[in-house]
Amino acid sequence: MNYSCPYCGGASPRCFRTEDFNRRSSSALYTYFRCTSCGLLFLDPVPENLGVFYPKGYHRMPAHIGDLETLARGEKYKVDLVSRFVPIGRLLEIGPSYGGFLYAARQAGYTVEGFEMDKDCCRFLTEIASIPTIQGTDVVAALRCSTPYDIITLWHVVEHIPSPWITVRAAMEAIRPGGILVIATPSTDSFQFRIFGRRWTHIDAPRHITLLPPSLLASIGKSAGFEIVELSGSDSGTLYWNEFGWRESLANLSPMPALKLASRLFGSALSIALSPIERRIRWSSSYTIVLRNPVISPGSTIRDKNRQGAS
Ligand SMILES: [Zn+2]
Repeated sequence: MNYSCPYCGGASPRCFRTEDFNRRSSSALYTYFRCTSCGLLFLDPVPENLGVFYPKGYHRMPAHIGDLETLARGEKYKVDLVSRFVPIGRLLEIGPSYGGFLYAARQAGYTVEGFEMDKDCCRFLTEIASIPTIQGTDVVAALRCSTPYDIITLWHVVEHIPSPWITVRAAMEAIRPGGILVIATPSTDSFQFRIFGRRWTHIDAPRHITLLPPSLLASIGKSAGFEIVELSGSDSGTLYWNEFGWRESLANLSPMPALKLASRLFGSALSIALSPIERRIRWSSSYTIVLRNPVISPGSTIRDKNRQGAS
């Protein structure tokens, strides 16, 4: 079977069939295709009832604000990354879960907002963490009627969204000149994907619908006139996902529960041995890209530039 790429229309032969190795939600098989032109890996068909694959407890909600403060310390590397490019301003996180990063960013002086699908997360964000958050599924509509942001972030979110390039473009249109879009996502260029293939834990079928290689996201950014100011495979988050990838992918290979613990220990040790290789963007299990809207003229946005181009 040969499909057309939903992004570029390129020929997309079947890459593999897999199952939900991470959560064992069912014995269903999921088929992924890979575009020979742009490298997009995509699930087709996407289950209609995706919500059932995000069970209660998917988001490990903090018990109280003190827990959130503790968890937010682990998100400080994201604030450090953002502040290198935009030291202060209005920040939107799409898919903040319980809001660890937003909490850390607010402590650092940013004015923060969230857009989140999960109702329990939204309730925690607004009622406990006092972070303004829109609950919904149509982030593109929300972005189109927003006032421009200085920073928009999607930390490990684009892989969960059907046609994520639409969301990425809408986000770029909602960023001020000089502002940035930050995206972190698993990489199909990675060493781990080459080793584990359909059993790679970051395939996470059927929750991960599309995996975009770094070159594709860079191309989407450039086509909107954005500059690539950072493309990293060695930030703290990526190093964590490298270790997680070896640990959990090896556990997925182990049929017996008793072997899973040993597999995880071996995976953690292996990740340390391989860390010099996996810190490189060509091999890392995920990557972080920072796209900046260049300053063209005072007050103009990408939205304005598009209007100018259309007139
Ligand atoms: Zn393509």
